[in-house]
Amino acid sequence: MASDVCASATSQLTIDLGAVRANYRALAERAAPAVCGAVIKADAYGLGARRVAAALYREGCRSFFVAQLCEALKLAGTAGAECTIYVLNGLDPGCEEQCATHRFIPVLNSASQVDRWRSLARAKGTPLAAALQVDSGMSRLGLSPQATAALAKDKAFKREVNLHLLLTHLACADEPERTINATQLQRFEMMRALFPGTPASIANSSGLFLDARYHLDVVRPGLALFGATPNAVAGTLRPAVQLHARVLQIRQIAAGEGVGYGHDYIADASRRLATIGVGYADGWPRSIANACAVWFDGHRLPLVGRVSMDSFTVDVSALPTSVLIEGDFVELLGPSQSIADAARYAGTIAYEMLTSLGQRHQRVYREGATTEIEPLGREL
Ligand SMILES: *Cc1c(COP(=O)(O)O)cnc(C)c1O
Repeated sequence: MASDVCASATSQLTIDLGAVRANYRALAERAAPAVCGAVIKADAYGLGARRVAAALYREGCRSFFVAQLCEALKLAGTAGAECTIYVLNGLDPGCEEQCATHRFIPVLNSASQVDRWRSLARAKGTPLAAALQVDSGMSRLGLSPQATAALAKDKAFKREVNLHLLLTHLACADEPERTINATQLQRFEMMRALFPGTPASIANSSGLFLDARYHLDVVRPGLALFGATPNAVAGTLRPAVQLHARVLQIRQIAAGEGVGYGHDYIADASRRLATIGVGYADGWPRSIANACAVWFDGHRLPLVGRVSMDSFTVDVSALPTSVLIEGDFVELLGPSQSIADAARYAGTIAYEMLTSLGQRHQRVYREGATTEIEPLGREL
C-alpha cells in the first residue's frame, strides 16, 4: 500500500493509468485490424474520464464513447481535435445545436432522433456526422430492422447525414454459450449490408472476447480497460484499481456484545474489532456485509455487523495485537480482493461497484514512475 502518498486521506483510491494503457494495448492487439475505441461513460466507470481519456490518448486511442452530452462536454479539450467523441444515448430534444457545435457524434437511436438531426443538417445546408444504432435483439436502444431498411433506401438521408458508424449492442456477450449472440451478429450483418462502406461495431468488452467475427470494424470496450472483466479469458488484463481505507479505532468487546446498527452481529466470544473509515456513502454497499472481508498483510479480516454510511467494522481477533494499529490502511480492493469478488459478495457486478465509488476517496493516479494526487474535495 502506498502509505507514502497521502497523509490526510481516510481512504485512498489508486488508479493505475499504466495498467489502463497496457489493457488498451492488449485489447487493441486482440481486435486488430479493427479499430479499438474506449467507452469512458459515467466518468470512466467512476475513475475520472479526463485522466483516463488523456492516458488512452497517449496510447493511441482516438475514438471515445460517452453516454450523455454532458459527459462529452466535460471531455472537450482533453481529447485532441482529431478525436471522435460519440454520445451513446443519442440526441435529447433541444441538444442538437450544441452537439453539432462541438462536433460530437450523436448515436442516433430512434426515428425522431434521426429526424431532428436531419432537420438541423437541412437548416445548416451541410451534412452532419452521426452514428446510427440499430436494435439486433436487446430491445433497449436503436432502430428496428424495418426502420433501418427504410432509412437505407432514403437517398436524402445519405445526403443529409454523414454516417460514421453503424452499431448495435449485445445483450448476453458475457455468456458466450448463449445462441442469441450469433443471432444478433447475423441480424446485424444483414442491416450492415444495407450501408456498404460504413464502419460497423457490435463488441463491448465481453463481445471482444467472443470470437473474431464480432470484432468487425470498431470495438467498444469499457470495463476491460480497467481489468475488471469477469470473463476468465480476460485474465491477462491488469487490474487498474485499488481501494484502501484507514483503521479509525480498535476495541475489544466481550462475548454477548452487539456490533453496529440493529445489532445484526452479536459476539460469540471476546473479540477485537477495527472500525474502518469507508461506508455506503463511499460506494461500499450495505449488502456486502455478510460475506466480505478486508485484508491486511496477508490476513483476511471478515466484516461484522452492518455497513454504516461512513464506516464498517471488521473482526481482527486473528491478528497479533501489535500488528494493526489506528491509522493503518487496510485493503478493500486490490491484489487480495478483486472488484469482481467484492461485487459478488454484495450481490452486484463490477460495473456497479466501480461506478458507485464515492467522491470522498483520495484519488491517486499512477503512470510508470509518476504519481499524481488529486486534492481532496476535487471538482473535475
Ligand atoms: C457501456 C457500453 C459499452 C461498453 O461496455 P463494457 O461491457 O463496459 O465493455 C459498449 N457499448 C455500449 C453501447 C455501451 O452502452
